[in-house]
Amino acid sequence: MSAAPFTVAIDGPAAAGKGTIARAIAAHFGYAHLDTGLLYRAVGARVLDGADPIDAARALDPTALEDSRLRTADVAQAASEVAVIPEVRAALLAFQRGFARRPGGAVLDGRDICTVIYPDAEAQLFVTASADVRAERRWAELRAKGDMRTLAEVLEDVEARDARDSARDAAPMKPAPGARVLDTSELSIDAAVAAAIAHVTACGGRAAP
Ligand code: C5P
Repeated sequence: MSAAPFTVAIDGPAAAGKGTIARAIAAHFGYAHLDTGLLYRAVGARVLDGADPIDAARALDPTALEDSRLRTADVAQAASEVAVIPEVRAALLAFQRGFARRPGGAVLDGRDICTVIYPDAEAQLFVTASADVRAERRWAELRAKGDMRTLAEVLEDVEARDARDSARDAAPMKPAPGARVLDTSELSIDAAVAAAIAHVTACGGRAAP
């Protein structure tokens, strides 16, 4: 593995395929992966338990985030509510920036990676899809986990989160000028992953030997 840092920054709305693409890029190139949404979800989960959001963000151990509860729809909404607070975002910044420049390459996915966390990332992507397609994907995922909310409810959640994430003052979600926009609405997972890997390769990413 080359020790030189190489950052792949991926932004986009919920259920557009960012996570799948980020994991596939990390596996292909041998880079480390950080799902930055988990940081906000971990803070949101603590707030649902009664904690103050800023205290929870400052006290967070970002290296210990594996918790299946973080993947629930309630925690997702709580995450997008704490994510509008500038002090929460500030408390999570240094860890994400450090991760971006770790030796050997890093892939980060979130909402503000290309715009705020690491705008100099060598490869930048904005992964998106129509709200209907994203709601259907999230609905299928939730059903597989036994959450029986309706497609209309899931669409409403996705649209509420999109609106909050793009309208907030602190690090709003938007495509960065240097990001390649990848719309996955009509793409299979394999085709979306192949397009993303081709972009990273064109930006200078090299698979570990
Ligand atoms: O990506 P995920 O759905 O796990 O993100 C949960 C929420 O965390 C998002 O709706 C968004 O409000 C917030 N978030 C953010 N910035 C990031 C990653 C996630 O504001 N880099």
